[in-house]
Amino acid sequence: SREQMMQTERLNVVSELAASVSHEIRNPLTVTSGFLQLLNKSKNVSPEEKEYVELSLQELKRAEKIVSDYLLFAKPQSENMVYSNMNAEMEYTKNIIVPYATLHKVDVTYSFNNNLKKYYDQNQIQQCFINLYKNGIEAMREKGGGTLSIDISEKKQNIVIRIQDTGVGMTKEEISRLGKPYYSTKAEGTGLGMLMVYSTIHKIKGTIEVESEKGKGTTFLITIPT
Ligand code: ADP
Ligand code: MG
Repeated sequence: SREQMMQTERLNVVSELAASVSHEIRNPLTVTSGFLQLLNKSKNVSPEEKEYVELSLQELKRAEKIVSDYLLFAKPQSENMVYSNMNAEMEYTKNIIVPYATLHKVDVTYSFNNNLKKYYDQNQIQQCFINLYKNGIEAMREKGGGTLSIDISEKKQNIVIRIQDTGVGMTKEEISRLGKPYYSTKAEGTGLGMLMVYSTIHKIKGTIEVESEKGKGTTFLITIPT
């Protein structure tokens, strides 16, 4: 429908804009946090001023989280396009997330078995995998650990990606809210991770199916035509 088209266009603008301002945003955030931390250690700061500094640091941390849900791998648009099979992206991001998984007692199992190629934005796909892995791990955090299984294979002319966790799971109602901007059930969540995932997968004409059982876990099944 027309409305869906407009929404997709809007999402494209959002992600392109995000990529182009990436460095301009991350650098000042880092520099400002650094100086505020220094200020916080100063002996000339009153308790009331210290409180303001703490609040500013908290807000900066939040901004950094929003940026990292979107711009972790952002580079100027033209450098990102590749014709490949996504296995390398899946493995690279798996390696990045392993320390975070270990920290939360999550085992990561994987299988990369796909020869189908596709033209896609490498950095957006990496960000997309990171967001899905992170959500899976965070869903197991409150259960004290579990297993994250990631899998890429091919079926007919489709790339099939499965990301499965043994976390807290979701109700039908919660599933239906996935991808809505700012929808988050986490105290420190941004509610932007799944928005990014949906917009990236839709851009390459893929579909996302979600299977979940409350208390048992969740499976994301992504099918991308080639
Ligand atoms: P955030 O992670 O910052 O909360 P996301 O857009 O990444 O934002 O996810 C939105 C919400 O969707 C989460 O807060 C969580 O409630 C739910 N969710 C996403 N992935 C999972 C998952 N694998 N298991 C359970 N709930 C999930
Ligand atoms: Mg998230």
